This record gives sequence, structure tokens and C-alpha cells, in this order.
Amino acid sequence: MPATPYDALIIGSGQAGNPLAYALAEAGRRVALIESAHLGGSCVNYGCAPTKMLLASAQRAHLVRTAGELGIRAPEPVVDFAAIVARKDRLTQDSRNGIEQSLTTEHPNIRLVRGRARFTAPNTLHVDLHDKKAGHEQLTAPLIFINTGTRAAVPLIAGLEASGYLTNDTLLLGLTELPEHLLILGGSYIGVEFGQMFRRLGSRVTIIETSATLMDREDTDVSRPLQELLQAEGVELVLEAEARHVSRNEADVLTLTVDTPGGERRLRGTHLLVATGRVPNTDALDLQLAGIPTDEDGYVQVDDDLRTPAKGVYALGDVKGGPQFTHISYDDYRIVRDQLLHGRPRNYHERPVPYVVFTEPQLGRIGLSKDQAREKGVPFRVSRLPASTIGRAVETGRTEGFVEVLVGDDDRLLGAAVLCEQGGEIMTMFQLAMTGGLRYQQLENLVVAHPTWAEVLNNAFQKLGRGQ
Ligand SMILES: Cc1cc2nc3c(=O)[nH]c(=O)nc-3n(C[C@H](O)[C@H](O)[C@H](O)COP(=O)(O)OP(=O)(O)OC[C@H]3O[C@@H](n4cnc5c(N)ncnc54)[C@H](O)[C@@H]3O)c2cc1C
Repeated sequence: MPATPYDALIIGSGQAGNPLAYALAEAGRRVALIESAHLGGSCVNYGCAPTKMLLASAQRAHLVRTAGELGIRAPEPVVDFAAIVARKDRLTQDSRNGIEQSLTTEHPNIRLVRGRARFTAPNTLHVDLHDKKAGHEQLTAPLIFINTGTRAAVPLIAGLEASGYLTNDTLLLGLTELPEHLLILGGSYIGVEFGQMFRRLGSRVTIIETSATLMDREDTDVSRPLQELLQAEGVELVLEAEARHVSRNEADVLTLTVDTPGGERRLRGTHLLVATGRVPNTDALDLQLAGIPTDEDGYVQVDDDLRTPAKGVYALGDVKGGPQFTHISYDDYRIVRDQLLHGRPRNYHERPVPYVVFTEPQLGRIGLSKDQAREKGVPFRVSRLPASTIGRAVETGRTEGFVEVLVGDDDRLLGAAVLCEQGGEIMTMFQLAMTGGLRYQQLENLVVAHPTWAEVLNNAFQKLGRGQ
């Protein structure tokens, strides 16, 4: 069967694939977008959005539970997990429907192909169609965009497969009962968000982590306060622990055996969430048939313009390695769009990489951490303001955390770590100042409405000292 020709093929309905399909279609190109699972990819279905929906319920429960701190007596909240899951499922389905409508009815130049794609040659894809009667199809185009994302990495641990475990996918797409005791393997950003969420929903939670602190990519004096806040809420931690074995008995109790510096420990729980990292969805793409190299972890290798060595083939989003965030994947789309449709090349290495851990309080991060500045030999001064000194924090009873800023020799901001209520929004204000090249004195002297969280811009730099 001859291959059906298009102007562009997009593999994956992720955070880059969908907007790129719209942009190309609006520019008059005929596009086929191939998706093997849910429209919207990770963020919409088993990543950002559903976690934040569940977190919103958990945070509401916590607000009710702690209402007495502000003089409001409320009974212990009843967590209706079925209703929480139903809300998440409804909102997720709404998002999928919106994407489907946009792809199939609002852009006549786009054809949505439901199936799994793999390369057969540099510019040709074979798609195993979901429609079994139709079977498969060959598609060809001078431009192909790989936006296939990642999935949870599952470590090789004896007994894991037989005992049953959750990943972000199976938890967010299918968990219907509230775990009595959730063991979380992996104490990075995903593990930490799920940990606080389920603790607040009423589960017992134990996070098991190989490093000596949670979120060990952050400066220790940034991750440790968050770790202590989680512990204060009753999240149990088993650190410097290496998982060795998993089993499940007839009473459905799961036992995770770990090695720790203090010896072997057997941790019992009802559910096990594996959150130990991600692997790229490249193993079934037959990239070698198109001459597309990957690195040793399977991530597609691209140049500064997100081009692979195969002519006309690009990789966008998580699958190309590097920081794995929705806004990074979306920006990859903008880079490719500007390059192909507007003749405006932009190097992706130059963009900022802000991110937020959506615990309460949030941790917002932008630019260099202290450790990174030291590693790069960048001179810096640092100022850390306890959140308890912010007027708005005192008024609202949200005094946990701190606001930390790094300033270079030229008085411009190098980075910020904001562990604080509204941490993501406050961090974004620092990002804006960095983008505009403002000196810190301009923020100190900015007239800011009182009493907002933004007032921290005036006070954050009070304690500037020498960083190294
Ligand atoms: C639990 C969790 C929470 C997160 N929270 C945040 C957050 O708060 N903020 C943030 O910025 N990021 C967050 N992320 C990361 C974010 O979800 C991802 O960085 C982002 O969704 C990546 O999008 P993408 O465009 O690379 O691909 P994806 O959105 O992963 O899309 C890839 C698509 O390709 C499809 N596909 C794969 N192989 C094939 C094939 N052979 N043929 C056809 N289709 C295929 C997949 O089915 C999928 O739909 C979170 C991730 C997780 C797991």
C-alpha cells in the first residue's frame, strides 16, 4: 500500500504536538497527528493537571482541618475519595473533549490518526491503527515531529511485578480507593506532591528515598525545610534506603524490604507508588530506521534548533531529554513554529527554566541555585527572608517557608528559591525581573500595593551577603 502523503506528521498529542498541529494547519499545511493513547498526553491525563486537581481537594481538606487556627471551628472533614476522583475524571474528560473538538472540527487541515506510529524510513511512518478493521497505514511527509513524551521508569526490584504497584499513570487514570498506607518509592518532585496529597486525604504515607534528603537536586537548605514541613504533617520518611524486594501476602499487605545505613527494614503498606524517574517513549519508534540517534538513556538527540540528524525530523518536549515540564514542551513548539513559519530561529539553551513543586507551601525555582552558582564559579550574594516576616503571611496565617534570592556582581538577579504560600507566583515575579535585566534596587524601590505577597519584592534583598 503506498504511503499517504502529508506536509507534516506529528507523533504524539503532547504539549508541543497539539499547538504545532494548529499552527501548521493555520499556515495551510496538511498535517496528520498520530496519538496512541489519550489526547493531551501526560500533562492533561496523568501529569500536571490531574495531580493539581487531587492536590486541590487535599489542600481543601487541610484548610478545613486547620480552620481552628483562624478561629473557625469545623468538624473533621470527611474525605469522599470517590467524589474527588469523579471530579478529576470529569475535568480531565472535558480537556480531552476540547482537544478532540479542536483537532477534528476546528482545523480542517488536520487529520487525527488514532494509533501507534513507528518509523520505517527517514520520512515515513507505519501506524498500527486502533481501528482493527482498518489495520495499519503508511504515512509520509518531508517534516516529522516526535513528541512522544516519557513514562514512569520502573526499577528492577525482585517481586515488584508480581506484587503489583502504581505509577503516576495507573494512579491518576485508575485508582478508585484511598490507600490506607501508601508507600512511595522516590522522594523527588512527583513523590513529594503525591506524599503530601495522600497524607492530607487521610492515608498513612511513607516516602522511601535513596538520597539523604528529599528532592536532592535542590540546595540542601532549600529541600530540608520542605522535608520538615512534610514530616510535621505526618509523612514518614525512610532516607538513604535502597529497595531490595517486594512481596504481597494473602491479606493483601505489601512488604517492601529496603537496605538502610542502619540495616535492613521491612516496610508494610497497602499500596506502592513507583516514582523513581522517567524513561522516554522511544523504544518502539524504530528510530534507527530513520537514522535518528538517541543518548544512552534513549532520549532523542537534537541540535540547537531541535532538529535530529535525519532531514526534516524534529523532537520536542520530554522525549528530547533535559528539563521535563509542560512549559518547556510548549516552548519547544514555539521554537519550531518560529523557525519554520516565521524565519526566526531561537536557541533553546538560552531560555529560563522556571518550575514549581505544588506542595503547600509551594516551592518556586528559577535560575541558579547556590550549589549551581558555586559549581559554575559565578560570584553571588544571597538574601533569605523568612516568610514569617511578610505582612501578608502573618495576616493569613501562612508563615511557613522563606524567600531566597541570588544576586550577581552587577546587582542583577541570578536566581530565586521561594518556599512560601504563592511560591510559584512570587518566583515568576523574580523571573520577570531577570528577563527585564532589572537591578535588585529597582525591585526594592518599586511601589507595591500593600498588603500583597508582591511586597516581598521590596524586602527580599535585605540580607544580601557574600555567597562564596
Ligand atoms: C505526576 C506528574 C506531574 C507533573 N506535574 C507537572 C507540573 O506541575 N508542571 C509541569 O510543567 N510539568 C509537570 N509534569 C511534567 C509534564 O507532564 C511533562 O513535562 C509534559 O506533559 C511533557 O509533554 P510532552 O509534550 O513532552 O509529551 P506528552 O504530554 O507526554 O505526550 C506524549 C504523547 O505521545 C503519545 N505517544 C507516545 N508514543 C507514541 C507513538 N509511538 N505513536 C503515537 N503516539 C505516541 C503518548 O500517548 C502521549 O499522549 C508532571 C509529570 C508527571 C508525571
